[in-house]
Amino acid sequence: MAHPRIYGLIGYPIKHSLSPQMHNTAFKSLKINAEYRLFEVKPQELEDFLNNLDKNGIYGLNVTIPYKEKVLDFVILEPESFYLKQIKAVNTIVKEDKAWKGLNTDIPGFSKHLKENFNPEGKRAAILGAGGASRAVCYVLAESKAKEIVIFDIDKDKTKAVVEMIEDLFPGFNILAAPNIEDLDIINKELLVNATPIGLKESDPCLVKEEMLHKNLFVYDLIYNPAETKLLRLARKKGAKVSNGLGMLLYQGALSFKHFTEKEPPIEIMRQALKTRSG
Ligand code: NAP
Repeated sequence: MAHPRIYGLIGYPIKHSLSPQMHNTAFKSLKINAEYRLFEVKPQELEDFLNNLDKNGIYGLNVTIPYKEKVLDFVILEPESFYLKQIKAVNTIVKEDKAWKGLNTDIPGFSKHLKENFNPEGKRAAILGAGGASRAVCYVLAESKAKEIVIFDIDKDKTKAVVEMIEDLFPGFNILAAPNIEDLDIINKELLVNATPIGLKESDPCLVKEEMLHKNLFVYDLIYNPAETKLLRLARKKGAKVSNGLGMLLYQGALSFKHFTEKEPPIEIMRQALKTRSG
């Protein structure tokens, strides 16, 4: 049998990922001779790694922190993807002819899953975190004509950068930086998104005070492991609708799979593979 085509996830450090399970189950179900691996690549090894993809039989990669911006120098972008330069986030690279193409599947992945649960049009949103995932979230909300975004991050420069990015891409869109978490004014919002890593660890605090949460809120936590963070538990108890980020992971993965293989992703099989692993 021919060597399998290699795909994978590149990042540093890669602590925990459900992507191999999701993609390898999908390859198997469609009888595709391919394998999805984790590539923990140190920053000083990145250039060498990217320059040797062909030699190592690699046909496509997902990209996670801290490389989503760095790989922009390595890929070509289709004209319709030029906005990724401003978002500074490529999470999928795929070999096409002789060149490596850069894409972002987090954006449509989050958009699809959010909209299955909540219509952001005309709604006011509070966002925790201003890192890479937050940039994708804010892009989706602005593009979907949310009424307002207020964003808080402990790093004020990052918050400012996200506000400027959205103002550049969507002139006139109402986006504000909150100096403190209280200034998110969650009590007057319909959507709260956690795009920080706070909640990944069992010992992590809940960033939001209980009295800020209410039953007219939809709370989306990008974290999917644990399946219910303290934030989601508290929000659920207050009568809010809640979702973790497993659906986003599934849809971004399914779209990447489609780009990797040019085949329809077996969504339900991929969903089951994630459920089995995430408990
Ligand atoms: P990131 O680039 O590191 O961004 C996280 C941001 O949160 C950073 O700016 C960080 O600031 C900030 N932050 C940390 N502690 C905070 C606090 N106490 N209050 C306010 N802000 C705080 O990470 P990312 O790639 O955006 O990922 C964020 C989360 O989303 C992670 O948990 C990741 O696993 C999840 N995610 C899920 C999916 C999915 O498919 N479901 C996809 C992408 C990401 P500092 O840099 O100063 O610490």
